[in-house]
Amino acid sequence: MDLEDTLLMMPGPVPVAPRVLRAMSKPMINHRGAEFSAMFDDCREILADIFQTKNDIMILSGSGTAAMEAAVGCTVGKDDVVVALENGKFGERFKDIAARYGKVNALENEWGHSFNLEEVEKKLEEGAKAITLIHNETSAGIQNPAEEIGKLAKKYDALFIMDGVTTLGGDTVKVDEWGVDIAVVGSQKCIAAPPGLSMISVSEKAFEAMNEKDALPYYLDLKAHKKSADKSQTPYTPGVPLFFGLQEALHIVKEEGMAARIKRHATGAKAIRAAADAMGIEMFPQLNDEYSHYSNTVTAMKAPEGVSGNDIKKDMIARGIIIAGGQSHLSGKIFRIGSMGNVQPKDIMLTIQELEVVLKKRGVVSELGAGVDAASEVLDTLL
Ligand SMILES: *Cc1c(COP(=O)(O)O)cnc(C)c1O
Repeated sequence: MDLEDTLLMMPGPVPVAPRVLRAMSKPMINHRGAEFSAMFDDCREILADIFQTKNDIMILSGSGTAAMEAAVGCTVGKDDVVVALENGKFGERFKDIAARYGKVNALENEWGHSFNLEEVEKKLEEGAKAITLIHNETSAGIQNPAEEIGKLAKKYDALFIMDGVTTLGGDTVKVDEWGVDIAVVGSQKCIAAPPGLSMISVSEKAFEAMNEKDALPYYLDLKAHKKSADKSQTPYTPGVPLFFGLQEALHIVKEEGMAARIKRHATGAKAIRAAADAMGIEMFPQLNDEYSHYSNTVTAMKAPEGVSGNDIKKDMIARGIIIAGGQSHLSGKIFRIGSMGNVQPKDIMLTIQELEVVLKKRGVVSELGAGVDAASEVLDTLL
């Protein structure tokens, strides 16, 4: 029996509201017609508020990684150096993309360990065309200091390329104030649309870098996307049903308001941390200064002594709640609970309740209640 009602509590894809699903079942339209253009402009206007930017925002058909590749591929030439900051799987991905297009000068931290800003500055001093940062490193549950790194990028005249895939639409991001030249987000994370689209903001300085390059990628040519966007279109046929879904999801964001949405995300993650603490579960990130924080959208926890994170994940899935394990070498060592998108307090309470039962059955906690108690205490501040 499949009731189609498993609860996705992972860092994307996230549950999609029924009204978003209904929007996607509309008949197709001409992507060169007025109806599509109106939808495109409506999406870009709401996105500008989410990104806090006056820069151009393009919408690409392709997941978040497509936008990451567009960002680097359009600005970095083969002799250009990219300072790639890595403290998790997605930082590694930016580094790997940068290596395809230019030269990499990587700062490779242990995953989940916060960056030392002096070390970042030393890398930039060596000369760089661009610096890549994952604002919220989803694989490790750590939020990196975007604002501070933006200041350093400016000081050394490097393009600041930031992956905001698990912050934009759920947490504070100030593209213009922080000097982010290129910011990217995917549709299936905090914005709570289906996977398949990505959004990217591009500064004047980044466009200038593109003018200096002799060859740009073809499908991901951001100058071509800008030229079409100026006419409220995309250069090639977009994923039209995904646009229907994105527009509806963005309306939900607008109706809630970004301030309330940011508060809900922060409170949800705080509740999960409080519950973990009450159940004797440790956080995975190692924060070594005041500039880095625990993520407000995904919580990464160390697997308790003698239990694999993958077993916790399996036990939770058997109970209808999909959480995430660890990626690459973190497999088994950690488990992660996503709390991004339209996740409500009741979803977090149910997750913590089932997690507590799982931990009791595995002998990690001896009694039920401490986790639920701690989470509800925090979540009740939203009532
Ligand atoms: C999910 C995610 C991406 C994009 O991954 P896709 O599978 O291409 O959508 C990029 N960066 C971060 C930090 C993510 O969490």
